[in-house]
Amino acid sequence: MNILFFGPNGSGKGTQGSILKDKYMTPHIESGAIFRENISNGTELGAKAKEYIDKGDLVPDEITIPMILDRLQRDDCKNGWLLDGFPRNKNQAIKLDEALKAAGMALDIVVEILLDKEIAKNRIMGRRLCVNDNNHPNNIYIDVIKPDGDKCRVCGGDLNTRSDDQDEEAINKRHNIYYDDNTGTLASAYYFRDLAEKDGSMKYITLNGEPSVKDVTDELLSKL
Ligand SMILES: [Zn+2]
Repeated sequence: MNILFFGPNGSGKGTQGSILKDKYMTPHIESGAIFRENISNGTELGAKAKEYIDKGDLVPDEITIPMILDRLQRDDCKNGWLLDGFPRNKNQAIKLDEALKAAGMALDIVVEILLDKEIAKNRIMGRRLCVNDNNHPNNIYIDVIKPDGDKCRVCGGDLNTRSDDQDEEAINKRHNIYYDDNTGTLASAYYFRDLAEKDGSMKYITLNGEPSVKDVTDELLSKL
């Protein structure tokens, strides 16, 4: 099963992705990790990518697409893959589609988590980390996991924030790319949605990201 996964930061994409990964026993491939791996292993593509990154430039698709394709063709992807974080814009969607077809790989499922931009931002900024256990979920904007006053709702421990989560400007910047339905990430999701409607070869699944993680998972499992 080959799966593409779309969802804004703050939509619980990672959690739902791991459910899919377990269900279909496919590796969960995160595009950022592919970059880091190619650079640290000193591959030819990695070296080229590093030149752009060092200059603060975007890595061109001519480098990114082959890197992603290479990853999707490895042994652990024999039974499928779950790609997350790519494509980020419509151009990349078109090129990825072409590259997959040229490699004889079919896309089976595309998942899109729907969540309002403002809610997604609040979800990120509302995260609180328990000093005793990272796995104690607390979020001041999510009722079911709201902290107990300013303490962890599970153990009563003190709570911290992660500085990344409080960087509103960076969050907005990423969300602006994601929610751009003209050329950005949503446009790339819609490119696949249109393909799915046209030829019916792949399934395009939308999930309402607003309810609890468990409810979103239930919706996902019921639609697969
Ligand atoms: Zn705790």
